[in-house]
Amino acid sequence: MELCIAHLFPELLNLYGDGGNIICMQKRCEWRDISVQVNPVHCGDKVDFTHTDIIFVGGGTDREQKIVCGELLAAKQQLRDYVEAGGVLLAVCGGYQLLGHNYLLGNELVEGVGVIDLKTERGEGRLIGNVMIESAICEMPIVGYENHGGRTYLGDCEPLGKVTSAGGYGNNGQDGYEGVHYKNVIGTYLHGPLLPKNPQVCDYLLKTALSRRYGSDFAFPELDDTVENEANLYMQERLRDNVVN
Ligand code: GLN
Repeated sequence: MELCIAHLFPELLNLYGDGGNIICMQKRCEWRDISVQVNPVHCGDKVDFTHTDIIFVGGGTDREQKIVCGELLAAKQQLRDYVEAGGVLLAVCGGYQLLGHNYLLGNELVEGVGVIDLKTERGEGRLIGNVMIESAICEMPIVGYENHGGRTYLGDCEPLGKVTSAGGYGNNGQDGYEGVHYKNVIGTYLHGPLLPKNPQVCDYLLKTALSRRYGSDFAFPELDDTVENEANLYMQERLRDNVVN
């Protein structure tokens, strides 16, 4: 079996090790004898997601987001078709914000691709720290690190999860929700990178992508996640001890 991953704008959107999510997907496939091809998409490239199984887009500063925004808008229709057809997509922070309708930065409106019904606006101060959420996509709590000035408000779509009492701000620091889960798209504020400490989230994405390509009947061996789970538990403990970073 094989999977094809499109990594959008790796040089511009790679805050807090987001590119590690690609390495994690590659390794967890390699350990299962699934071959992976990663296609970086750079500014100016013509995009074609016909043979793409997973799209990944990381986070970036407001400046970098503004640079890629025009590029994403040029690929808007392809992205919309891909998402509506059930394509798997993981977007982190700045990339997550750009999937929505727009990002209001003071009196400047940065247009998003609008493939998901959400919008973001810059608030007072930044929402920074470790975060733990509970999500229906996996049993283990999802842990990560957030650092964003934008506050995201969901429209007609479901959050990825709920911020736990252990801590974190999530989408906007008000409604207690984090991220978005729309069709096979996951958007989240969680950096870290996200997937190495949350192997169940990684496997959720891989399994969804494999079943799209190969149907529901394929071998997906369990891996020994002792180290990954220890990292997850370590984060949980730090949160419970109220350690911010
Ligand atoms: N620039 C965005 C914000 O501050 C996203 C930052 C990020 O990707 N961490 O809200």
